[in-house]
Amino acid sequence: MIGSFTFENLPCRVVFGAGTLGTAKAELERLGARRALVLTTPQQEAQGVRLGTTLGPLYAGIFAGATMHTPVEVTEQALATMRACDADCVISLGGGSTTGLGKALALRTGVNQLCIPTTYAGSEMTPILGETRDAAKTTIRDVAVLPETVIYDVDLTLTLPVGLTVTSGINAIAHAVEALYARDTNPVTTLMAEEGIRALARALPAIAARPDDRAARGDALYGAWLCGVCLGTVGMALHHKLCHTLGGTFDLPHAETHTIVLPHALAYNAPAVPEAMERISRAIGAADAAQGLYDLARHLNAKLALRDIGMPESGIDKAADLAVTNAYWNPRPLERNAIRDLIARAWSGEPPV
Ligand code: NAD
Repeated sequence: MIGSFTFENLPCRVVFGAGTLGTAKAELERLGARRALVLTTPQQEAQGVRLGTTLGPLYAGIFAGATMHTPVEVTEQALATMRACDADCVISLGGGSTTGLGKALALRTGVNQLCIPTTYAGSEMTPILGETRDAAKTTIRDVAVLPETVIYDVDLTLTLPVGLTVTSGINAIAHAVEALYARDTNPVTTLMAEEGIRALARALPAIAARPDDRAARGDALYGAWLCGVCLGTVGMALHHKLCHTLGGTFDLPHAETHTIVLPHALAYNAPAVPEAMERISRAIGAADAAQGLYDLARHLNAKLALRDIGMPESGIDKAADLAVTNAYWNPRPLERNAIRDLIARAWSGEPPV
């Protein structure tokens, strides 16, 4: 039975397909841009310059200093570059780190963003910005940071290394998993979430076997888009809170942390969310959703233990304490001892229970 719900469609234009990078100039013109500053990480600078050369007089320059966690000092440097080259629009070409910088600039200046994601993180579909100042991360939700236009070019994901493809893909799945049991979930987001999980669970093993499999890359990016919409549309719960806490406290890598924690956070919530468990099981083709996600990561050679990505054993209690402070909504009440057990299992890499 369909109950009552609220659904808000976020205003964002999406251009999807192989070779769609070629539409960047037309999309900028559509936005009324005069001069666009390209943003990348240092690793993707050459790709950003190549894009710039296709834009003719619309190309204002490049800032290739995007980095994890959107530090405000980096944003200030990019702001100075933006002013020096008189840019009235930004193009974020890269993963969640680069998208974050574009959002931080839009928040401060109101410029339009053309976002061209090259990972599966999903930030381009959300009105959420996490910034770091003096090692403290704050998160805001403001529609002013939502990119106006997103170009998903499947070809740009062909270079994403298999390891990052797997963890970034499971990071995307985590958005959809928590959307399925969000307090403010709705039937449209539920459809997108199940379809997003299905597309990624099908695509990731095919990409691991053949990283240049265009059809599988297309499936994965399509899934990542759907999962990103889920993240942008409804509220997240224990899994995202745990990953945010663990990442911030122990400086752990974003996508790998999500990959390790997801089966455990889901197993914790399982008794409270039978319908979500059924949908996830169906989407990944496994008898049990939490064990199925653990097996997916294991078969794809992802790291399964927080201790292997730099978390100290002494951090388990601290993480459990932090997870139950600043109370937030979760389908199963937050029980400190059970959450400590969950983190301990994720730390040592055991299967979820
Ligand atoms: P990332 O953006 O840090 O990218 C990781 C590395 O991969 C970078 O060096 C990048 O240049 C490189 N890379 C990206 N695409 C590539 C490609 N196709 N080929 C080769 N190399 C490529 O990693 P991420 O996981 O995409 O993003 C993580 C960040 O995004 C975190 O800071 C996280 O907090 C943020 N995030 C924010 C939201 C939100 O809604 N605000 C959502 C998801 C993630």
